[in-house]
Amino acid sequence: MRILLVEDDPMIGDAVVTALKDAAYAVDWVKDGPSASHTLDIDDHEAVLLDLGLPGRDGLEVLRRLRTAGKTVPVIVITARDGVEDRIRGLDLGADDYLVKPFDVNELLARMRAVIRRQGGQASPLLSNGRVSLDPGTHRASADSVEVQLSAREFALLQALLLRPGTILARSELEERIYGWNEEVESNAVDFLIHGVRKKLGAAVIKNVRGAGWMVEKSS
Ligand code: CA
Repeated sequence: MRILLVEDDPMIGDAVVTALKDAAYAVDWVKDGPSASHTLDIDDHEAVLLDLGLPGRDGLEVLRRLRTAGKTVPVIVITARDGVEDRIRGLDLGADDYLVKPFDVNELLARMRAVIRRQGGQASPLLSNGRVSLDPGTHRASADSVEVQLSAREFALLQALLLRPGTILARSELEERIYGWNEEVESNAVDFLIHGVRKKLGAAVIKNVRGAGWMVEKSS
């Protein structure tokens, strides 16, 4: 799951990147308004964490442009401005939620899970295709009455597949969902993760479509 962080404060940015990576998100980080708008124009993220006080272009303006362009990606505003008017304006411009700094990273992670879940039209916190279930809060997965703990990367892989059951994801698409801009990806990294998940949950959980990629089945 790929997240865009827009934050000009290096200490807060570092802390959020670390927390998100620990929670198995792939994070791309930009530090000013124009870079944020540019990245949102060309790249595909599953959620955006948006500071409001930014160099070059205010976060509210970044948000306004994003929504004017018709993009529906969930946005959580993170800001030191605790004025109620900024919060109202942010929500009215299309933010999905907001957090006032300083915030607890666990609360940030819980709010991200909630907005991403709502975006997917899902009421339950568990992701499932009927055969495999995955808990984004704990990274525990179960299939055929086996319940296991996944590593952060294994979780990110299975989540990417379970968000699109019945859809084949190519290696490059999986890498994009699991790794951020600055992370080196070994050529066999995806195979290694697939192997790990199959070993824990059974080989049938992830289908290999020769020459195309991998998928989880869509429940009938
Ligand atoms: Ca700022």
